[in-house]
Amino acid sequence: MRLAVVGAAGRMGQALIQAIDAVDGAVLAAAVERSGSDAIGRDAGELAGAGHAGIAVTDDPVAAFSAADGLLDFTAPAVSVDFSALSADAGIAHVIGTTGLNAAQDDAIRANAARTPIVKSGNMSLGVNLLAVLVQQAAKALDAADWDIEVVEMHHKHKVDAPSGTAYLLGEAAARGRGVSLSDNSVRVRDGQTGPRPKGTIGFATLRGGSVVGEHSVLLAGEGEMVELTHRALDRSIFARGAVKAALWARGRDPGLYSMLDVLGIS
Ligand code: NAD
Repeated sequence: MRLAVVGAAGRMGQALIQAIDAVDGAVLAAAVERSGSDAIGRDAGELAGAGHAGIAVTDDPVAAFSAADGLLDFTAPAVSVDFSALSADAGIAHVIGTTGLNAAQDDAIRANAARTPIVKSGNMSLGVNLLAVLVQQAAKALDAADWDIEVVEMHHKHKVDAPSGTAYLLGEAAARGRGVSLSDNSVRVRDGQTGPRPKGTIGFATLRGGSVVGEHSVLLAGEGEMVELTHRALDRSIFARGAVKAALWARGRDPGLYSMLDVLGIS
């Protein structure tokens, strides 16, 4: 499968180029960066420390997508929305790992998924998607009247959105387990005289610092006991390998918006 990587010079872009190099059945067909990036014209493989690839980084996505069967996209919300229209025009599978999209941006991507298969997930790793299944089960088993759920995450100091896409993914899993809507039952920020914790809410806490790739814990706190479910990402390659796997899975599928749970076949 010929894959284009957008955001090729980014942290995830480089991990994606390395992962494509390591996965049978996937080849790097194009690498795209924003206009004005220092990476334009450089060899994409060398940029990612994966050796010479013979693919120059370009700022022309339309030409890049015409040479590809799929697109791997870990960039920024507005950029992923624009690329979802271009991938639908080109009729190629689109894997979106970008986080921090608002509701209107999610809707725009869902609309473009009517024309091409899109796999979108706040976390592409097998471990986090398994964790989401476990969180849903735990939230279902433990009565909301007696158990409080908190999602705690830590990431490196360069991350620009909060809480993380993975924290939302885990919060959604907990809300599904309880049969409630996350948006109506979440507490995302606490500061000052907050009053006691509202019963049944799902809380979020965000830590930022250093080079942490991603750590997430879901705490289920009851009277006199606490259950903790934790995932630690030790390396970005777990997200990149998941994204390549998603692209291979999506190739030739019917148009639609899919998640990593669909790709991994776990529920
Ligand atoms: P980054 O800032 O290192 O990389 C983003 C890249 O996108 C930059 O190189 C930037 O120049 C490029 N870009 C911006 N506009 C562009 C355009 N118009 N065309 C082409 N390229 C463009 O960020 P990162 O750490 O690689 O993370 C990127 C996104 O992926 C974030 O939203 C992050 O939260 C998310 N992420 C998701 C997962 C997951 O598993 N879903 C894992 C890690 C990171």
